[in-house]
Amino acid sequence: MRNRALKPGMVTSMRGKKKKELPAYIRERISLDELLASRRVLQLVYEKGPLTQGEASEALDLSQGACNLHFQRLEYEGLLRAHRIVPEGRGPGRPSNHWEIAREQNAALGLVFDPPNVYVQLEDFTAAILFSQGVSLRACRRSEKIAEKVSALVVKAVDEARARKLILRHAFAALPGVLEPATGAVKRAVNFPALEGLDVSDLMQRAFKMPTLANSLGAAYYYGEAATIPANSTALVMYWDLGLGFAFGRNRQLLTVHGGEEGGRMISELGHISIDAQGPRCHCGERGCIEAYAGGWVLLQQFAGKGVTTLEHLVRLAESGDAAFQQALRDISKLLGRHLAGAIQMLGVSEVRITGPLAPLFHHGRADFFTGLAEIIGIHRSSAIQVQVTEDFKGQLLAGATRAARRVYFYPDEFSQLSRLSTTLQGQRMAGS
Ligand SMILES: [Zn+2]
Repeated sequence: MRNRALKPGMVTSMRGKKKKELPAYIRERISLDELLASRRVLQLVYEKGPLTQGEASEALDLSQGACNLHFQRLEYEGLLRAHRIVPEGRGPGRPSNHWEIAREQNAALGLVFDPPNVYVQLEDFTAAILFSQGVSLRACRRSEKIAEKVSALVVKAVDEARARKLILRHAFAALPGVLEPATGAVKRAVNFPALEGLDVSDLMQRAFKMPTLANSLGAAYYYGEAATIPANSTALVMYWDLGLGFAFGRNRQLLTVHGGEEGGRMISELGHISIDAQGPRCHCGERGCIEAYAGGWVLLQQFAGKGVTTLEHLVRLAESGDAAFQQALRDISKLLGRHLAGAIQMLGVSEVRITGPLAPLFHHGRADFFTGLAEIIGIHRSSAIQVQVTEDFKGQLLAGATRAARRVYFYPDEFSQLSRLSTTLQGQRMAGS
């Protein structure tokens, strides 16, 4: 495996200029490894920038002097930059520096495992896509082989970042299946068992020294949708593929519930909540999971007689108007409405997004979904819920993973229940030239 040694802390030149040493009085007083106050400054500029140091010191209740040290440190690290603004006319204003995030110089990486493919996307902090590629894992029988393929793809993205003199700050890997709560390693992936044992966070740390949060596909789906979800609305994102996954979020923040070391379920596993102890056997081993009624793998089995072998076939079968399939979709949609009603009610969900390769099937059962929902929470409350079907789920998914990587970098606390976070703002400096 090639390892383009990314040397942490290596000073790279910005726009070809030779970079000065950071003065010792800043270096010694503000370490990026103990950055509680620096992170608050960074978050403020991220949310409210451009702003002046005076505005920041007021907002954060920090002394001007302390504030200035943080700004200098963050500027030196390539995170902030200043614009000098000279007030027009003869007013009393003096020229002042307005600070903002150096969005074009920083980047994040999104990895999406959507079996049998894996995708890697590089975006700078303006969300411009600079690299996006996928590779098939179909021939991989073991997680070691998958790790090799992923590394080879990440090397390309890293090369692109290096060529553009970007600093890669954080990565986010979105994975299917059941993950180890502490590490994000894949514990069980019934729909693609070769993933089992894959620890992407560890791989990225070892091969690229890149802080990486490995989490469920649901997180990437949520962040993919988050940009279009109104503020202060709680959203439920359902992704429909071979399995059935769920994510909840509010104000670009994923709602997480830690399932505990063993025991409990993560929110993303809502599809494996049993709704009938005597129901059909799910391939997770339990009976009567929602997924055992509505997962793509069930539909592939049920309609195999109609020559259906792929998820795309299922979408086409629905479009063809096949009567038996239409009826099945209406039944499934009603069942989803009934059994998601509790979660929708409990979390105050007002926006529902259906995404994934089977999302188009929802068009055939939309009315029945609302019927099921209304049976539980009443017609008044159910009719207030907005449901949208996402068309370009793959683009959304990749954008979502990269967005999640940026979010983790700026707001690690929001992900504190998901563990394996970087405690430093350092990121990876690409060697200049
Ligand atoms: Zn199950």
